[in-house]
Amino acid sequence: MGTTIFTVMSEMARASGAINLSQGYPDFEGPPALRERVAWHMANGHNQYAPLAGVPELLEQIALKVRQLYGCAAEPKSHICVTPGATEAIHCAITACIHPGDEVIVFDPAYDTYAPCVALNGGVTRHIPLSYPDFGIDWQRVESEVNDRTRLIILNNPHNPTGSVWNEDDIESLRRLVAGRNILLLADEVYEHITFDGKAHLSLLRYPDLAARAFCIFSFGKTYHVTGWRVGYCVAPSELMREFLKVHQNISFSTNAPMQFALADFLRDSPRYHLELGSFYQTKRNYFNQILDKSSFILKPAAGSFFQLADYSRISDESDTMFAARLTREHKVAAIPVSVFYRNPPEQRIVRFCFAKSDQTLAEAARRLERL
Ligand code: GLN
Repeated sequence: MGTTIFTVMSEMARASGAINLSQGYPDFEGPPALRERVAWHMANGHNQYAPLAGVPELLEQIALKVRQLYGCAAEPKSHICVTPGATEAIHCAITACIHPGDEVIVFDPAYDTYAPCVALNGGVTRHIPLSYPDFGIDWQRVESEVNDRTRLIILNNPHNPTGSVWNEDDIESLRRLVAGRNILLLADEVYEHITFDGKAHLSLLRYPDLAARAFCIFSFGKTYHVTGWRVGYCVAPSELMREFLKVHQNISFSTNAPMQFALADFLRDSPRYHLELGSFYQTKRNYFNQILDKSSFILKPAAGSFFQLADYSRISDESDTMFAARLTREHKVAAIPVSVFYRNPPEQRIVRFCFAKSDQTLAEAARRLERL
């Protein structure tokens, strides 16, 4: 397996002096009160190992949050684990349930840690392409791919890299698909708060029958603009969480303590912060779409996440990896080629831009992109 595209493109952006709209992270800071709490906890003795599943104060706050948002009755002591980033949680969940020969369904374009992690565990990925151009799931196709060896389906909503978001029909289809089958679910919901145009986030935690077989994975890095802290969490039923914790204790044992204490304080003191995130990023999405309106890119505004796909077929017929490299080196704007997220890339000319950037950064990027 090669180096992740996020490292490849961020390194190319750095070497070329390009504006980095490739790897998904904000170029602005998270809330000062949160960062001050980290400093406070470091200065006040919270610098030793956190408990394996997480600091109790944070587990309590997470339980409260998922109860309020999704009506999910998660027990802090048996259903939740705080992890060093959502990536570690994805790894633990897959490792906890995949044995050699087990099949895992992923939807392409798929986030690039899923398939390698399945492979590390001796599992086999079945790649099902999302429909084009709306990037929805073809549930009939899924039904035809499921078999006795299917152990896990990996879902990602809101979706990275396409920005598509589920509706109630998807939930119903998923329900019908798994009913009576011994299939587990991994729901990567790290963009849970970033949905637009009044669309609610349909977390699997809202649906007790689905939550009963799911590892649901979330990210504080995305929510509080602190991706470098590497703090995420997983919510799962106690039988699944028990297995998850066995993996977690042998990979990282626990997650850094001062950040966990600070996050617990911030969730307690600013419980509405995450409720504003959708409108915050909707404004950015609208701004980015508006300033690229005069460019030759074809954009269909994202429904969620902080990514925007852009069709460049009016500009070039190069492959997306060639185009993204040239965009970075010559035009000084880095993007992610979407074909790398497919097992069998379709004939599309699409790159992904991250709009989690200051308006000034977005405006300068748009100025450069308009020249193409
Ligand atoms: N999730 C981020 C993205 O999609 C990348 C995270 C990483 O680089 N590991 O850009």
